Amino acid sequence: MSSFYVTTPIYYVNAAPHLGHAYTTIAVDVMARHHRQRGDDVFFLTGTDEHGEPVADAAKAQGLEPKDLADRNAERFQALMPRLGVSNDFFIRTSDERHGRRVQEVLQRVHDNGHVYKGMYEGWYCPRCADFKVENEIAEGNRCPIHEIELVLHQEENWFFRLSTFQEPLERLYAEQADFVMPRERFNEAKAFIDSGLQDISLSRGRLTWGVKVPWDPTHVFYVWFDALLNYYTALGFARDGEDLTDRFWPANFHVIGKDILKFHTVFWPAMLLAADIELPKHVFVHGFLLGADGRKMSKSLGNVLDPFEVMDRYGTEALRFYLLRDVTFGADGSTSIDSVRSRYEGELANELGNLASRTTAMITRYRDGELADGEIDPALVAEFDGLAAEVSAFIDRAELTQALEAIWQRVRRLNRYVEEQAPWQLAKDDARAGDLDRVLRTLAEGLRIVTVLLHPWLPESSVKLLDALGAPDLSVGNAGLDGVRVRHVSPLDPLFPKPS
Ligand SMILES: [Zn+2]
Repeated sequence: MSSFYVTTPIYYVNAAPHLGHAYTTIAVDVMARHHRQRGDDVFFLTGTDEHGEPVADAAKAQGLEPKDLADRNAERFQALMPRLGVSNDFFIRTSDERHGRRVQEVLQRVHDNGHVYKGMYEGWYCPRCADFKVENEIAEGNRCPIHEIELVLHQEENWFFRLSTFQEPLERLYAEQADFVMPRERFNEAKAFIDSGLQDISLSRGRLTWGVKVPWDPTHVFYVWFDALLNYYTALGFARDGEDLTDRFWPANFHVIGKDILKFHTVFWPAMLLAADIELPKHVFVHGFLLGADGRKMSKSLGNVLDPFEVMDRYGTEALRFYLLRDVTFGADGSTSIDSVRSRYEGELANELGNLASRTTAMITRYRDGELADGEIDPALVAEFDGLAAEVSAFIDRAELTQALEAIWQRVRRLNRYVEEQAPWQLAKDDARAGDLDRVLRTLAEGLRIVTVLLHPWLPESSVKLLDALGAPDLSVGNAGLDGVRVRHVSPLDPLFPKPS
């Protein structure tokens, strides 16, 4: 059994959950569920990033302790997970003391390996990013390119991490492992950042107490980014009571992130792991931004925000899961709107998949009393489904989730065309063609079963409902081939994607 460890970024508790959080989490859930269907030993981690100045400031403004604010806000993210239908194996909170202790252990090792020194830092700082910006990251008007707010000049005595020492090891990593960062465009962006020359970075904050204490200098806390990045590693130490999962799951197979945090994950993180003698993750996949219908960055003032809760209330959780990975190619930027949600829901989920499912089950019930016998499956369709499961797995292995979904959807459409071509309602009128009708119904039932098994990661509830109606609940990808009859008794099925009320 292979292990598969996949992570979302941990979400900063200062913001309320929005579409961006839902997007990454759903994508990772699709990967995790697919790997479980392959029989892999899967661990899916998500959680919240709770330390740092923005949380401390917000708590102060509300007359709260930072921990109380973090507790309150972390709860909203924890509640988001079941709402999105995601199957995370653990939810880490960086204010958890067990995380803090393991952060200290790892960074003490970085210190003991000689990669840390004390110095004076002065630079342009974005309080929202909690990050100092280097020259090529400062936008016009001395602004943060992400938050578009003015940067502030900060000077402070810090512990520094000798990132510059890792110039060559990182160049080598990028030379040797072309899929360390995906897609290619993001790999090039990370590589360009490294090639421009790495400067040492600040590892601690002296003015702050809301964080993990630096063990060799308790007047400092670690810079929130290092504490946060280490969650991917620390969580395995305490996610299961009395069990350390590190050897079972580390190194991570995929960190899935948004492009705004590329530098931390593709440059700082591998350098930090090298400094601590910890094996590097296999891949960092960087997805794009979801934009408003006007193609601009979503913002309340532009009125172009797609609210994931509104989508789920109107069309259901699965519509959101399907839409986000269908309408925008995972990895690229793309615009979103409630109108395009409706058109995917009605045009594809209801009219294509929903209709295929209801016609297939209804015809088997009407013409064969719900019973299918052994026999031949249409060889033309066998050829067209041949290798589909492997194709889908190969896409998911590269986090090409939209391409995987498209490959499956082509077969959904193929099956609908097959119904039209074969016109089972005509065959049913002619007793001499009973054998043909059997073959057509059997082919439809098996084809429907296969697309449903493969769609399970996107549609976890409907797929189970549909497979139950087909009397074939096995979700394993290994059995998702048109190589035999597995559907024998079909039960009636309620519409899977009803018209929203
Ligand atoms: Zn910023």
